Amino acid sequence: MNQIEILEQVQEFVARQHGHFINGQYYLDQKEPRIDITNPATEKVIATIADGSATSVEIAAKNAQDTFKNVWSKMSPYERGLKLNKLADLIEVNAEELAQLETLTAGKQINISRHLEVAQTVIFLRHFASNTTKIEGKTIQPSLPSMQGEQYTAFTLRQPVGVVAGIVPWNFSLMIGAWKIGSALSTGCTIVLKPSEFTTLSVLRIAELAIEAGIPAGAINVVTGLGLTGQHLIDSSSVQKVSFTGSVPTGIRIGQQAMQNDLKRVSLELGGKNAAALLADVNIDEILPILIQSTFVHQGQVCAAPERIFVHQSKYQELVTKASAVLESMPIGSPLDPSNVFGPLSNKPHYEKVKYYLNLAKEKGQILTGGEILDGEGYYITPALVKVDDVNDPLFIEETFGPVISVIAFEDEDQLIDMINDSRFGLAASVWSNDMSKVMRLIPKIEAGSVWVNMHTFLDPAVPFGGMKASGLGREFSDAYIDDYTEIKSVMMRF
Ligand code: NDP
Repeated sequence: MNQIEILEQVQEFVARQHGHFINGQYYLDQKEPRIDITNPATEKVIATIADGSATSVEIAAKNAQDTFKNVWSKMSPYERGLKLNKLADLIEVNAEELAQLETLTAGKQINISRHLEVAQTVIFLRHFASNTTKIEGKTIQPSLPSMQGEQYTAFTLRQPVGVVAGIVPWNFSLMIGAWKIGSALSTGCTIVLKPSEFTTLSVLRIAELAIEAGIPAGAINVVTGLGLTGQHLIDSSSVQKVSFTGSVPTGIRIGQQAMQNDLKRVSLELGGKNAAALLADVNIDEILPILIQSTFVHQGQVCAAPERIFVHQSKYQELVTKASAVLESMPIGSPLDPSNVFGPLSNKPHYEKVKYYLNLAKEKGQILTGGEILDGEGYYITPALVKVDDVNDPLFIEETFGPVISVIAFEDEDQLIDMINDSRFGLAASVWSNDMSKVMRLIPKIEAGSVWVNMHTFLDPAVPFGGMKASGLGREFSDAYIDDYTEIKSVMMRF
C-alpha cells in the first residue's frame, strides 16, 4: 500500500469544530447536536458537523436575502464574473487540499478527486463566470391595433429570482455544490447550500475560499445537517428557489414542499437507470475500456453512469467474458493509494443498500462476476456484472447507484428501444456503434435528457444536462439554466 501523505492544512481543517458558514464566517450554536463524519475507507470518525436547526437556517437565509438585495444583485455582471473567476483560481491553487477532503469523506479514488472533481469544478465555474454578461431580454413589436394613433413597444428583462436553496448529494459534493454556486451567482442570485451530511467538509472549504476571492459575505452560505435541515431551508420565507440534486423519492418530496410554499421555483436533478446500447457492429475490445471506466468511476456512484447494458445477442458472450476479466483485474483498495482504481462505497447506508441488491442477484444466481464484500475495515464491494433475463427484474428497474451493472441481450432495434424506454427514469443513455445511420435513427426515440454516442458519462459546461420523466425538472449548464434562476419581466410602453 502506497498512500499519499495527508497535507497538514487538511489535517488542521478536518480537526476543527465545524459550524455553519453564514455571512462570511463560521457560526456555531453549541446547543445543536453533532453528526459524525466517517471515512468510508476506514470506518473511523474523522470529524463532526452541526445538525442545523430551523434557527440557524433562518439566520443563513436572512443573510443571503440581505446580501441579495443590497449587494450582489446591484453589482455589475462583469464584476460578478471576475469574482467567480477568482474563486475558480483559488480552487485551482488549493486543488490538492480539496481533493484530499473529498477522498477522506466520500472514499473517492484520489486521482478522480484531483483530475475529475476538482479540475472540472474549475472549468465549470469559469463557464458560469463567462455567462454573467450574457443574460439578456428581448425587444418585441406588439400586434394589437392602435385606436388613436398611439404606438406600442415592449421588452423583457431577466431578473434574478433571489435566494436559492442548493441541496447537494454526497457523490460529487464539491462539483455539484459549485454548479449550484455558479448557476445562482452568475444570474445575480445568492445561495444557501445544504450539503449531504456525509460530505460536508469540501463545501465548507469552498465557502471560505469564496470570501478570499472577494465574493461578498452572505452571497454563499452553508448550513450543515440532515434532511430536516434541508426541509427548514425550503420552508424559509427568505428562499425563493430550490435547486436540488439527489434521489427521485427525495426530489418528489422536495418538489411537493416547494409547491406548497407559494409555488417556490424548483429545479430537480435526480437519479437514473441509464442504458448503454451496444449494437451488432461494436468492436468489444475497442469500446470496453471506455465503457468500464464510465460505468465504474467512483464505484458507479454517478447519476449518469450506465446501469443497464443492452448488447446485441451476437456480441453478448464476448462482452460478458471480456468485461468479467477486466473487472476481476481491477486493483481495489485505499482511495488514497493512486495505484488503486476502485475504492470503497461512500457511506454505510448506501453500502447496505447495494448489498441488498446484490443479495437479490445472488439468491437468483445472476452474478457473473464480482459483488463480493471484502473483509476488514471499509465499505468495499468488488465491481459486479449481473445477468438479467427479464426486464421486470428489480436490478433492471431500480437505481442501485453503485458498482453493479446488469446486462441483457437484444435481437433488433425495435425491441431495444422498447426495453430502454420501459423505465420511469430518463436521465441519460448511450449508443455504441459505427453505423451512424442506425444511430441517428435511434437517438430521437430514446427517452433521456442526454444521449452519448460511443462514450458515456461525459458532462461538459457548454452542453445542457438534465432528466426527462422522473429523472428531473429543468436543465443545468450551457445557458439553459438561466431560465430557471431568473424571472422574465415584460414591460410594455405606449408612445
Ligand atoms: P438523497 O436524495 O438522499 O439526498 C440528497 C440531499 O438531500 C442530501 O443533502 C440530503 O441530506 C438532502 N435531503 C434528504 N431528505 C431531504 C428532505 N426531505 N428535504 C430536504 N433535503 C433532504 O440523495 P443522495 O445524497 O443519496 O444522493 C444519491 C442520489 O442522487 C442518487 O439517486 C443519484 O442518482 C442522485 N444524483 C443525481 C444527479 C443528477 O445530476 N441528476 C447527480 C448526482 C446524484 P442528507 O444526506 O443529510 O440526508
